[in-house]
Formats: sequence, C-alpha cells, structure tokens
Amino acid sequence: MCLIGIGVGMLVREYGKLSNLDKFYFSFPGEMLMRMLKLIILPLIISSIITGVAALDSNVSGKIGLRAVIYYLSTTLIAVLIGIVLVVTIKPGASQTAEEIDRVGSTPEVTTADAMLDLIRNMFPENLVQACFQQYKTKRQKVEAKIGMDKNSSAVTKEPGAKNKTQEYKIVGAYSGGINVLGLIVFCLVFGVIIGEMGEKGQVLFDFFNALNEATMRIVQIIMWYMPIGIVFLIAGKIIEVENWEIFRKLGLYMATVLSGLAIHSAVILPLIYLIIVRKNPFRFAMGMAQALLTALMISSSSATLPVTFRCAEEKNGVDKRITRFVLPVGATINMDGTALYEAVAAIFIAQLNDLKLDLGQIVTISVAATAASIGAAGVPQAGLVTMVIVLSAIGLPAEDVTLIIAVDWLLDRFRTMVNVLGDAFGTGIVEKLSQNELEQMDATAEVNIVSPFALETILGHNEAGTKKSYVNGGFAVDKSDTISFTQTSQF
Ligand code: ASP
Repeated sequence: MCLIGIGVGMLVREYGKLSNLDKFYFSFPGEMLMRMLKLIILPLIISSIITGVAALDSNVSGKIGLRAVIYYLSTTLIAVLIGIVLVVTIKPGASQTAEEIDRVGSTPEVTTADAMLDLIRNMFPENLVQACFQQYKTKRQKVEAKIGMDKNSSAVTKEPGAKNKTQEYKIVGAYSGGINVLGLIVFCLVFGVIIGEMGEKGQVLFDFFNALNEATMRIVQIIMWYMPIGIVFLIAGKIIEVENWEIFRKLGLYMATVLSGLAIHSAVILPLIYLIIVRKNPFRFAMGMAQALLTALMISSSSATLPVTFRCAEEKNGVDKRITRFVLPVGATINMDGTALYEAVAAIFIAQLNDLKLDLGQIVTISVAATAASIGAAGVPQAGLVTMVIVLSAIGLPAEDVTLIIAVDWLLDRFRTMVNVLGDAFGTGIVEKLSQNELEQMDATAEVNIVSPFALETILGHNEAGTKKSYVNGGFAVDKSDTISFTQTSQF
C-alpha cells in the first residue's frame, strides 16, 4: 500500500499539474480515513479503560498500572539518552548558524509553568461532556503599565516610574478544540475501579461498557477494510503537497540524527527489552503491529491510531485484553518515546546552532524537560513541537527558535509517532508477561466460581467470605477471548 501510495503520488506530482484546490480534493479519501479513526477514539477510550479496570480487582490493576508506568518512564528516559548521545556525537548544528536556516511559521505560545498546570487542570475536567471535545489552555495577556485615575479629574495619568516596572501579565483561561484525553482517562480509571468494587450492583454498568467496547471494535473492523484506500491517498496526497525540498538539505544532518535515534530505539532497544522479559521473537511481535505502525506513519497521531493499535495487539499478537484495555490508551497519551528522543535532539541542535556550550547540568535539565514535555504532549500531529518550547526555555534558549525546525517537523512527526505507537505495543507484551501470575490467578478464580460455586465456598470457608472474596478479588471476569463470565457468587 505504501509503495502504491508513493507511486501514485510521484505520478500525479510529475504529470498531474494539480492546482492547490485539486491537491486538496485529491487528498479527500485520505481525509475520510482520518475522520473515521478520530470518530471512534472517544467511545473506544471510555469503554476500554472502564472495562479494563473494572475487570481487575484494585490490587491487580494497581500492580499492572505500576508496571506500565515504570515501563513508560524507563523507556522514555532511555530514548532521551539515546537522543542526547547521538546529537552530542554527530553535532548536526555545529557547522551551521541559526541565520543560515529559514524560519517557518510562528512560535507556539507556551509557558512552562502554565503548561504543567494545564496538564494537571486537564486531568480534572470541570465538565465531562465538554472534555469530550475541548481542553483547557491557559493564555497570558500583557497588562499595560498601570494607569492611574486622577480623583479630581477624568484625565488618565501614567503612574510615575511605570517604565521601570517588569511586564505584568494576567492569566486568561480558554478552552481549545480537541478531546481532553487525559481528563477522560483519569475519570474512567476511577469510574472503572468503583464499578469493579461495586460487585453485583455495578454489573449493569460493566455490561453496558463492555457491550459498547465490543460494538466499537466491530466498527473499527469496518474502518480497517477502508484503510488500504485511505492510506494510499494519504501518502500520495502528502507527496504531491511537499514543495520545499531545499530545506531537507539544510536540515539533513539534524533529520538524520533524529531518524537514526528513532531507528536505534525501535529496532534495538525496545526489541531487546521485549526479548529479555518476554523471551519471544520481538520482530514477529513488531510485524504483527505493522498496520498500526503504518497508520501512525501516515496520520502522525497516536490517539487516532489507537483503534488500529488495539486490533493489531489483540487480534494479531494475541495480547490479553485486560492488559491492552489499560496499557494502550494510557500509553497513547503519556508514553511517547519517539517524541522524547526528538525533543532532546532538537533542543541540543538549537543550542548548537546558537553556539551555546551545554554543561552536564543543562544536559540533565534537558533530559528531565524532554521527558516531561513528551508526557505533556497530546497524541495529535505536531504536539511535540509545541511542548518543545518547554525544553528550550528550561535551558534559556529563545522559544522562537522552534521556527527553525518547523519546516521538517511534519516528516519527523510521522516517524516519532510510529515509535510512540511501537513503544506502547511492546509495553502491552511486556506488562502482560510481568503480570502473568496475577492474570492466571484471576482466571483460576473465575473458573472455580463458574464450574462450581460451591467449590469456592469450600475453599473460602463460608458464604459471606466467599461473596466478599469473589467481588473484591474477582470483580468481573473477562477471559482472554473476551467471553464475559461473571463470578457467580450471587447464587451462594
Ligand atoms: N504526533 C505525536 C503523537 O501523536 C506527538 C508528537 O508530536 O510528537 O504521538
């Protein structure tokens, strides 16, 4: 599909002579694929997290969550380190100056403190419905030097000494478009845990979200049939669109540094971690994810790729749904190895362009800032470029220098998104392996309950304990093939 897309793109570019408007129309089938995938994110995230968490008891989901977070953080840090080592050795910015590179676009308006606070604010949306289509974004507005009103006259006078005052800002809160995925995840995690603990009373809700999840996945299956066509047009459309090839020469070394870092992380480090922990062929696992990786490459959004990632992980690689339902949506939102690597390389590249010598302290600052910026970046196209400003300001570089790398960002974004998705996918396999004991224990408990409710009674001593144990430890049992089997303690 990829090759057909490139071929069609080249042919149309060469012989088509399309006007801007024609190019827009040409990309229409690709645009439809994006729309369909985006459409399905909302029900998918909500239903998968709620059922994923409710199916586990809070102890097990806590352990799985902890393992996932440790995996996310450690792989992100490794990615940052690879990026730093490469950019410091290759020195892509050493032979150039900032003036030699054309600036494109405008600087994103981001301030570190506000961005961090917004991240936390967005975790707790004030309105659940609004969180489905908007998220909070703080804006700063300059306050003009204080104006004093003369009591006796209506004349306006500037306060003496206003000149020497530092610029004052005021915060203006605003909502901007886009799903507040983080807010929904936090809510659904809590909601899922509560439903799981409610036992029989929560069963109706569990049934509902489970059916919603199954229905959503069936729609994803339909979208997958359309995918080949959509992908061909997405690739072809992008090839036709690119106009400024010259910039690739100027920023070639920088791009090569980012791409080689991404290649090392995805083809060596992640597979090695998978091999050591899971002891299975990592490349077969990665091949199983091929469709998701290609989608990520095409649409540069880990959130919009999520439906495909789910299908590949569950259907092709057979990862337990109790793991994917939790690890994938959370991973798509906060685990971005590719983005972290890119942020570190880009920041140091910009420092090199500015002839700024970085000491060890600044490099450590960059690692921490790049990790935080990757967590803060949303899973949407070029989100990393926006949070890049945080890394730049952490080492005192001018924020407007992001405009130096905007021209090639659309291309790097595709590859880093692919690595982000691969990192999440390997995460499911690794967390599944690490949680094997708990999952098997849950399966065994569920089986005992279903085969013979009285057997459990014998094991646990008496009815009351049986009821409690079953709900607290069993919650709702979901087996690997997704046949829901409810623990039958209510029959006791
Ligand atoms: N586009 C990336 C993603 O969705 C985020 C980024 O810009 O790095 O994963």
